[in-house]
Amino acid sequence: MTDYEILAEKIFPDVLQSVDDLEKRFPKRNLKDGAMVTRFAPSPTGFLHTGSLFTSLVSYRFAKQSDGVFYIRLEDTDTKREVSGSGTELLEQLKVFGITPDEGYLSDESEVGNYGPYKQSNRADIYKVVIKDLIKRGRAYPCFATQEELQEMRAKQEANKEIPGYYGKYAIYRNTPLNEQLALIDSGKPYIIRFKSMGNHENKIKIHDEIRGDLELTENDQDIVILKSDGLPTYHFAHLVDDHFMRTTHITRGEEWLSSLPIHLELFASMGWEAPKYAHLPVIMKLDNGNRRKLSKRKDNEAAVSYFLEQGYPKYGFIEYLLTLANSNYEMWREQNMDKDKYDFVLSFDKMSLDGALFDFKKVQNISKELMARRTTEEIVSEALDWSSKYSKELYDLICSDKAYFSEIMSIERNKDKPRKDYEKYSDILPIINFFYDKYYNELIKHLEWNEAISKDDIKALLVDYRDNMNLDLDEETWFNDIKALGMRHNFCDSVKIWKKNKEAYKGHVGDVSEILRIAITGKKQSPNLYYVLKILGKERSVERINQVLDLI
Ligand code: GLU
Repeated sequence: MTDYEILAEKIFPDVLQSVDDLEKRFPKRNLKDGAMVTRFAPSPTGFLHTGSLFTSLVSYRFAKQSDGVFYIRLEDTDTKREVSGSGTELLEQLKVFGITPDEGYLSDESEVGNYGPYKQSNRADIYKVVIKDLIKRGRAYPCFATQEELQEMRAKQEANKEIPGYYGKYAIYRNTPLNEQLALIDSGKPYIIRFKSMGNHENKIKIHDEIRGDLELTENDQDIVILKSDGLPTYHFAHLVDDHFMRTTHITRGEEWLSSLPIHLELFASMGWEAPKYAHLPVIMKLDNGNRRKLSKRKDNEAAVSYFLEQGYPKYGFIEYLLTLANSNYEMWREQNMDKDKYDFVLSFDKMSLDGALFDFKKVQNISKELMARRTTEEIVSEALDWSSKYSKELYDLICSDKAYFSEIMSIERNKDKPRKDYEKYSDILPIINFFYDKYYNELIKHLEWNEAISKDDIKALLVDYRDNMNLDLDEETWFNDIKALGMRHNFCDSVKIWKKNKEAYKGHVGDVSEILRIAITGKKQSPNLYYVLKILGKERSVERINQVLDLI
């Protein structure tokens, strides 16, 4: 046995499997040419970041559009940052957006697929097989440096203006003789395992990124930690092992990992494994007083996907928006293919932004408004019911009290060529339609805002006349003519244009008449189309409402 082999046996006497065994246990996937295997690898830190939803959407689409595999791996090796139970929640939120994995982690109790376990903390045995192999070949070693030693080192490097880290002459345990290593282990001195780098930071290496093309980066020379004292691997090492044995073809991850790529490539080379392809996705940025900065969990509501869900932005609007953010040609495609499914669009790496993607909240709102207006009544009712069941008991109870009535309300100016864009999120619904329900109406009429320019007597006269002559069995145009005629009877001009030329001759115009009726019927100055409001309330309730208001003037 070589010294390295003796060391490996000393550290991992119980690890009996070999890397070859793992190769057999996780065979190459049998997929058609060009099929991509991608993954989303969240850490369970308690919430789904908007940027993570973006990354997962892109990863999911690349796998789906190539008939590949999209899987989820839970990266829970940083036990300090872990929020327990949040892995399941992440999956739930992804599901809301229709991003469902073909395989992988589903919850702490369940997973699907033959390449697991998909939760890193359950993979300790697998990592150890690979680490033992590296130690045997002299490419990894135990490091006994204490925190104080490392701090001292850092201070020295800072003072000498040297590159910080554990490398070269600073890699103090990399050449420790075997007998000392064994003695230290026997003495019980705590240690971690480091990778032995063969690189030199004076060299440049050529790297290819699917989005950024060919790049030159500094070669790695750091002896990075691969196994921590808690027995779990670091991100770098877990990435090597997991993406190799889960047979990932494309690593689609945030651009913050680009600078670590030389480490990852050296790790792959040290195992003689072919590295996957890398695509470093743009980070989602925000304009803040003219400056670009990352969306921040602390400062920005829109950094958390849960915010959009709570507010009730429709998931199809949000996904549509993220696609515009992913590929610069998506919007144009959408304009030319209004009737197609969003996923008929084929994402490509070369249409991705290179310098961060700017999050545009206004655009999320506009897209949502546009798409909510185009839903059928049945769709919008079922979505409102679903959303309110989780986030608004008030709306939920209202809908359930009379679903047919709610459907009628939601059908106002829907299912037509140019539908009205009243709502951009489900939480807009209640404040816009509450007046249809008497308990809200009775509150609203306590604070009516009449037009000050029109006398209360004139308002009353108009309302009495309308109450006594109300006819709702008319089509919309005839009904509006009826309102004009009502106005004319009280000297309100039936044309705003004519009124403008000769304001003194009139008490107001037809718009003022409609406003008075609207305020009386809905308690508000703004409402969905009054014609439909009256039709839904019906003559009896409308007359009743006018009487109620007349008593208050
Ligand atoms: N767990 C890593 C993160 O949360 C995943 C990075 C990757 O996709 O490789 O950023």
